[in-house]
Amino acid sequence: MISVDDALDRIFTRIPTPLPETVPLARAHRRVLLKPLLAKRTQPPFDASAMDGYAVRAEEIVPGKPVFLAGTSQAGQRFTGMMQPGECVRIFTGAPMPIGADAVAIQENASANGNQVTFTQPVTVGEFVRKKGYDFTEGRELLQPGVGLTPAMLSLAAAANYPEIEVARRPKIALLSTGDELLPPGSELGADQIVASNAYGLIPLLSGYADKVIDLGIVPDDRSKLERALLSAFDYGVEVLLTCGGASVGEHDLVRSVLRDLGVDLDFWRIAMRPGKPLMFGTRGKTLVFGLPGNPISAFVTAVVLVRPALRQMTGHTDPFWPFMGVPLVTDLPANGERRHFVRGKLSRNEIGFLEVKPIGVTDSGHSSSLAEADALIIQPEDSPGIAAGEIVEIIPLSLLT
Ligand code: AMP
Ligand code: MG
Repeated sequence: MISVDDALDRIFTRIPTPLPETVPLARAHRRVLLKPLLAKRTQPPFDASAMDGYAVRAEEIVPGKPVFLAGTSQAGQRFTGMMQPGECVRIFTGAPMPIGADAVAIQENASANGNQVTFTQPVTVGEFVRKKGYDFTEGRELLQPGVGLTPAMLSLAAAANYPEIEVARRPKIALLSTGDELLPPGSELGADQIVASNAYGLIPLLSGYADKVIDLGIVPDDRSKLERALLSAFDYGVEVLLTCGGASVGEHDLVRSVLRDLGVDLDFWRIAMRPGKPLMFGTRGKTLVFGLPGNPISAFVTAVVLVRPALRQMTGHTDPFWPFMGVPLVTDLPANGERRHFVRGKLSRNEIGFLEVKPIGVTDSGHSSSLAEADALIIQPEDSPGIAAGEIVEIIPLSLLT
């Protein structure tokens, strides 16, 4: 048996360096820069008003003393000419400051009567003025590589004048489910048949890291059919091939030997984790191959713990791991032996509103309803003697696995 960390290390060493591609900014959400993004312009490009009000010379503003209104500066249409002594200019948020003005008096402190404006408060130099370049200047590093682009980052990239952006390519992924007993949802099920459900969780779990995910459907436990399906995926040029089921050592579990026959350089691991002990990992040319267990919880948890980090690394993320946080445990966890346990848990809030997590009693790897009920996986380390209620545990919040 190898540890989760060893398995991850061995996977990471076989992952190719991400290549760049250019995508429209509007389609770059969650994509990852491979190098820093530099501002193509200066923002604001001029000294600008931060409020609606009057551009003034601060030293001239005395409460109650009228100032002459010389014109207007609006966003997109500046006041041309020079603001003379004794003058002010009506100004709106984002509009360029007139030459000669050094502050903005907000309109709440002003009253206009014809061409005369009086103010109720004195003004200080620079008040409510956004200096040119105060947000960013041309050439500045605005965004760092290695993280998924957030909405705020995309908005910033647009402000920096990027209509498109260079990000890491994402792989084409294919997923194949295998088992004689499996039928798609909605089927007329025979007495010995079950629904092939895993793909419906795995595809959305991983698709954010894929250029596309091809569902190769269900293949029976039949050597030649498996070979044909897997070969077609290789021929199509998928870069990550996932199989699900047929991963244990039962006599119907052909995936391992078929992958070998097809020339996959394959490791078969018993990983010290629960759920999800058996996992195959290998490469064939440029294709990474993961053979996931068929049990629904094992398939999902191995995908979270081993496949998702691999895909994150492939797609340029400098932190390939799952998001985690520490929260107190609501009820005790018993000792768990030599395997790292990913325990289904339910988040709630204590009396003062802080998050806490309660283990869900079920640990069986075929129990899908408890996974759907869970909103976290509690990570119980290897050889834990048990964890008492109240102690802080590390969790993977499932809602953050986008
Ligand atoms: P296997 O890895 O083929 O030994 O499968 C282990 C268990 O998972 C068996 O109970 C299978 O019926 C079940 N199983 C395999 N593939 C799937 C699937 N795609 N969806 C749901 N259950 C599955
Ligand atoms: Mg099977």
